[in-house]
Amino acid sequence: FEAPSRQRGVAIPQGISKVKFFEVLNELRYEIGEEWVELNDKELKGGWYMEHPNTHDMMNILDAEELVASAVVYPGDVEDVQKIVGWANTWRIPLFPISMGRNFGYGGAAPRVRGSVTVDLGKRMNKILSIDPDDYTCLVEPGVSYYALYEELKKRGYDHMWIDTPDLGGGSVLGNALDRGVGYTPYGDHWSVHSGLEVVLPTGEVLRTGMGALPGSNTWQTFPYGFGPYSDGIFSQSNFGIVTKMGMALMPNPGGYESFMYTFPKEEDLAPLMEIIRPLRISNILENVAQLRHCLQTIAVRGQPRSKYFSGRGPIPEEIIHEEMKKTPLGDCTWVYYGMSYGPPHIRKYKLDVVHQEFLKIPGARRIDPSTLPADEYFWSRDKIAAGIPDLEELLWVNWMPNGSHIAFSPIAPIRGIDATKLYSLARKRHDEAGIDLMPAFCVGLREMHLIVEIVFDSSDISMRRKADRCLRDMIDDAAKLGYGEYRTHLVLMDQVAGTYNWNGNALMRFNERLKDALDPNGILAPGRCGIWPERYRGRGWEI
Ligand code: FAD
Repeated sequence: FEAPSRQRGVAIPQGISKVKFFEVLNELRYEIGEEWVELNDKELKGGWYMEHPNTHDMMNILDAEELVASAVVYPGDVEDVQKIVGWANTWRIPLFPISMGRNFGYGGAAPRVRGSVTVDLGKRMNKILSIDPDDYTCLVEPGVSYYALYEELKKRGYDHMWIDTPDLGGGSVLGNALDRGVGYTPYGDHWSVHSGLEVVLPTGEVLRTGMGALPGSNTWQTFPYGFGPYSDGIFSQSNFGIVTKMGMALMPNPGGYESFMYTFPKEEDLAPLMEIIRPLRISNILENVAQLRHCLQTIAVRGQPRSKYFSGRGPIPEEIIHEEMKKTPLGDCTWVYYGMSYGPPHIRKYKLDVVHQEFLKIPGARRIDPSTLPADEYFWSRDKIAAGIPDLEELLWVNWMPNGSHIAFSPIAPIRGIDATKLYSLARKRHDEAGIDLMPAFCVGLREMHLIVEIVFDSSDISMRRKADRCLRDMIDDAAKLGYGEYRTHLVLMDQVAGTYNWNGNALMRFNERLKDALDPNGILAPGRCGIWPERYRGRGWEI
């Protein structure tokens, strides 16, 4: 990434003068320690996934200086977090908490409000507090990455337990779950397998959810609900608290595993294929959050730039895609299904035989024999991820464009042919209008699927950024008209997406706003995140 230089100077939070801000920053230094408070007055650095800036989104879709932090603070413990919150309340300064800030495609480390102070929890609060080999659970702080948790299990010789990792292993186990991210083993719905949170509220009190509220309980990580209202949900995809600890279930080692891959020749195979996948997935014959990808993503993940294949205007032509596919070990196709079967060989065989019989009902479907694939084929990266082994190979498709950046359209739909077709058609139409290459992947959960359409763009190209933004906004509106909503979105699209969940006169948002105003009366915590604006900001032109 190229590092954009700064025209607008330090991003001072609104409502406070520059001089006063510098003065109160010194108060924070006094509270937390001089070396743990950094003014963001340097060039906006670029980087890559593992060495990313924590002050802004290096994959910016808006102007690079728009969503930028004024300063970063690094708390060392829960008491530090409370002090930071107290300081922010005194001076009405917006805070933006991140665990590791690798939320690429959804805003990276950037705050929603320019000039917020980023609370980078991961740098110092990065301990694995417990791993229980009998209960198959762990308790982690915000800075524990999938790599760190995986390596700790290996170090302790706990081969009977697996972690679940998203496509990239450098993210935070806690941060990803809070944003309701996904991985690719049967434990891939991260939020659903967490158990227990510790939260610093915007007013500074600390609470523990579920069984953690009962002093001396030894079931915090095994029974998520405790007694009374189940409050965990309000701390995910929200701005109601800073989470300082999270419990998580670990998966039992299934005693063997085997990845498989099928290809399907035609675009129109999508609908009948979904009808085949749904009953197999719901009955757990297809056991993991599997992926049905468009073959263009298979080409892009080889890591070569688009210009190697096509330098004309508009989306890359179908003929070129198919010519390129013919050169790959997969051969020509339109859809690629990546799946994994778990358990000892005889159990796998039973399931794999059913899958084979069902998938071959699509004319031209082919099973690709993994033994024919070279060691550097992307299939082997999916094989690792579906076995809970962190990896980074997925990053390669981001090279499709120079200054490769991406932003996602991620609607939820039932696992049905008709829904897959509607979403695919609207994405195709809007991509064609914008002249953008369409790279859809259907991630099949248990009774729903997330369609993930990644738009890869050059963040230094203003016109490309605008086209990507337009395309996304059109797709969100089109999808909402058909009854589909996003499961997660980028910072700049949060108002729009939240606005689509508007049943009964925006009843849900009014509820969220009431919670926000009660829990965060000064509106200091991540204003605008997920479209939730505190009273002090509402209706004053912050929404985009
Ligand atoms: P953070 O950035 O730390 O947290 C995410 C957000 O949660 C923050 O912005 C913040 O608003 C909130 N938050 C974080 N910590 C706290 C806290 N302690 N208290 C309160 N709020 C908090 N994601 C997936 O889920 N699955 C994938 O398969 C996947 N594939 C990807 C592939 C590529 C090529 C790329 C570039 C990205 C992919 N991502 C994927 C997106 C992203 O990289 C991961 O979700 C990543 O785990 C998120 O970053 P993080 O874990 O550092 O979380």
